[in-house]
Amino acid sequence: MRNHPRIAIAIAVSLLLLGILYVWRRSSSVVEVNSGYRMVMGTFSRVVVIARGEKTAQRCIEAAFEVQDRIESLMSDYQDDSELSKVNREAATRPVAVSEMTFEVLQKAVYFNKLSDGAFDVTVGPLVDLWRKAGEAGEPPTEEALAQARRRVGSDKLILDEKNRTVRFAVEGMRLDLGAIGKGYAADKSMEAMKKHGAIGGMAAIAGDIRCFGRPPRGQEYWRIGLQDPNVAPNDLGPSKPLLVLALTNEGVSTSGDYRRFVKIQGPKVSHIVDPHTGKGASKLASDTIIAPDATLSDALSTAVNVLGLEKGLALIERLPATAAILIPAEPGASLVYSRGARAFVVTTQEALGLPRE
Ligand code: ADP
Ligand code: MG
Repeated sequence: MRNHPRIAIAIAVSLLLLGILYVWRRSSSVVEVNSGYRMVMGTFSRVVVIARGEKTAQRCIEAAFEVQDRIESLMSDYQDDSELSKVNREAATRPVAVSEMTFEVLQKAVYFNKLSDGAFDVTVGPLVDLWRKAGEAGEPPTEEALAQARRRVGSDKLILDEKNRTVRFAVEGMRLDLGAIGKGYAADKSMEAMKKHGAIGGMAAIAGDIRCFGRPPRGQEYWRIGLQDPNVAPNDLGPSKPLLVLALTNEGVSTSGDYRRFVKIQGPKVSHIVDPHTGKGASKLASDTIIAPDATLSDALSTAVNVLGLEKGLALIERLPATAAILIPAEPGASLVYSRGARAFVVTTQEALGLPRE
């Protein structure tokens, strides 16, 4: 009889320890949390986090969207009070000081401009505006207007002062447009934020710009990214019938094309991507997908390759280490074109998906 209280205490303590162990295991077991879509930068953004514990995962999601919102508030050209809008208003008259992030993006943009032989150019603003207005008016711009806009375009006219972290325009009427690099950059920064808050894997997808890293979802060896068929993607939330599936580990992947965003002026549609050399809409590719070590690079390169077209675009990708491209030529019914390294990323082909192409 004297032992009974001791046994009871021992059982109670064991149960308590088991309970603590159970709660601890639950809170530290690996979970996968999908944020669902949110509107960022005028488009749909989603993150997936792999982390130990629900709380950590939620913190990572919040951190990722916080950084995306911050980047939007700095680099949006729709918000009048964004840093970029201020630069566009004032940089022709004086050097404008900017945040580290904006400066970093601009430095990279100038580098990508050189890398792509001028095909990627964040100073295309005046040309983008011209074609947007032409679309609204339903009439193509005059040669005179084109020539005038082109005089205001060129990364050589963008003066970056690293020491004072300022931006200055050499010519009046210039306008920066970060539409071809901002989403990729935000996806990369989301990944950094998620890692900082304890994620062991994750993916940030802002429209067609995606960054993934670390441990993939349970039961998968890779992050699987579907590549949409440009001919069956009528709108942003359209049917997601992938043309093929890519397997990624720690890369950025971006798709550019005229199938979602374009203006229509008397006949053929004009892409929202402009060839800075001609001042006209890029028309050589229906779409192109770039896989690169990060999404800032894949975003910029997908736009550059869209401008450069098949031969020059492929040549650029083959020249760069650790990048790959899958191109869809503009001619209806054309087969996909893969760069040398691209097939290694394809896990499910069109045939396996039961699609007729290639
Ligand atoms: P999306 O924005 O549809 O993902 P991109 O990443 O290719 O596609 O970016 C296209 C946007 O970039 C255009 O809407 C325009 O704002 C801007 N842009 C257009 N042409 C160029 C260019 N040659 N270089 C850099 N930016 C461009
Ligand atoms: Mg891009």
